[in-house]
Amino acid sequence: MEEGLHPTTAALTGLLAQLSELTADALGGVEDEFTESDLVDQVGLLERLRSAVAATQAAAMVRLTRVRVERETAEQQRPERIGRGLAEEIALACRLSPTVAARRLGAAKAWWFDLPHTYAALAAGRLHERVANAVVEQTRHLPAVTRREVDQQLHDPRTDLPGLGVRRALAAITTTAYAADPRAYLERGRHARDDRYVALRPAPDTMSVLTGYLPVEQGVACLAALRTHTDSAVATGDERTRGQIMADTLVERLTGQTRAGDVAVEIQIIVPVDALAASDAALDVADGPVLDGSASQSPSPSPRSTEPGTATVTGVGALPLSVARQLVDDSGGTKHLRLLHRSPAGHLVDIGGRRRFTGALADLVLARDQTCREPYCDAPVRHLDHVQRHADGGPTTLPNARGLCARHNLAREQPGWSATVVHDGLGDRPHTVVTTTPTGHTYESRAPDPP
Ligand SMILES: [Zn+2]
Repeated sequence: MEEGLHPTTAALTGLLAQLSELTADALGGVEDEFTESDLVDQVGLLERLRSAVAATQAAAMVRLTRVRVERETAEQQRPERIGRGLAEEIALACRLSPTVAARRLGAAKAWWFDLPHTYAALAAGRLHERVANAVVEQTRHLPAVTRREVDQQLHDPRTDLPGLGVRRALAAITTTAYAADPRAYLERGRHARDDRYVALRPAPDTMSVLTGYLPVEQGVACLAALRTHTDSAVATGDERTRGQIMADTLVERLTGQTRAGDVAVEIQIIVPVDALAASDAALDVADGPVLDGSASQSPSPSPRSTEPGTATVTGVGALPLSVARQLVDDSGGTKHLRLLHRSPAGHLVDIGGRRRFTGALADLVLARDQTCREPYCDAPVRHLDHVQRHADGGPTTLPNARGLCARHNLAREQPGWSATVVHDGLGDRPHTVVTTTPTGHTYESRAPDPP
């Protein structure tokens, strides 16, 4: 990249420098030179610049796609592999998750090929990026010809999309898209049902949010069932709040347990590597709810084994030991307790060679990486990857392992992608992997701090 910047690349680099110079002037105390009217103009112009930048970036993404597809076609790559991994490369360049990058790439292609008026207004800084995205979203189901008609209508003088505020613009887009093909619009609603899903995300204070994206009547039925049950529980003198009864009932019905608190828990405790002997003793009491030396019913394990004061609950994350202990004490479900080891420098280390990423070694990788190890991706780990491929003689060790999400596991198999371990994570520095993409760009991924 360094050798001989393309004039456009050089111009963009210059533009960025120019913008930060403008800011530096403002911070340098020369505000007096501006009237309030100047400053309002500047705010407005910068907003338009945002749109223009989005359009310029979209053009670069479309060109990249075109160049890549042409090259891979010429190289006679298998058709299903052509263009794969592009969203992942864009994600790294933009410091975004691949899901967000894929959405941006999709919008770029739609503006460029099917929505030329929307694209032109965006590039001129007359249309807000949010509105331009809504045009893409609301016309997604339409064939290209109809989509172009809608695009034209939205920008003719009667509608004048760029002249509307965001809210009215969104309404105009929906109305125009519906009018263009009412049946397709309703059909689209039916297809949305195919996208139903359930997701879980962590919330502060050791809580989590469970979401179900459901057809409306099913969502209503779920809530009604919980309410009905809650009404009868309250009527029989249940002293929990309605919210608590509904939440407990949700867990009980989904898991089939008789009591919400009886979920199976797996807890990992990270112990200093020099406490190995002591931790072996602690393993023997895995059935008993003893997580630190202060537990009243503690039989024999050394208190040293739990010095760090945090436990990791599988699927939940780090918890203070006291909260983890309460989980184990309260739960009538299955309990597992695992011990992982920490080097004096604070990194998780392996305790012996193994041939595959299974068992304790797999636990170590998951505990070390926590989420997908590609930068800016926080998707859950779905694959334990040999950084140096197994086929190339890569060993099955903790330093040569990394957790990847499903998407990045696919991308790494694309030609032109490679990864190298630059720090094994056993010394002072965290485990570090450098990923190289097909364009020769490199990105560094450091293991997060242990919980
Ligand atoms: Zn990922």
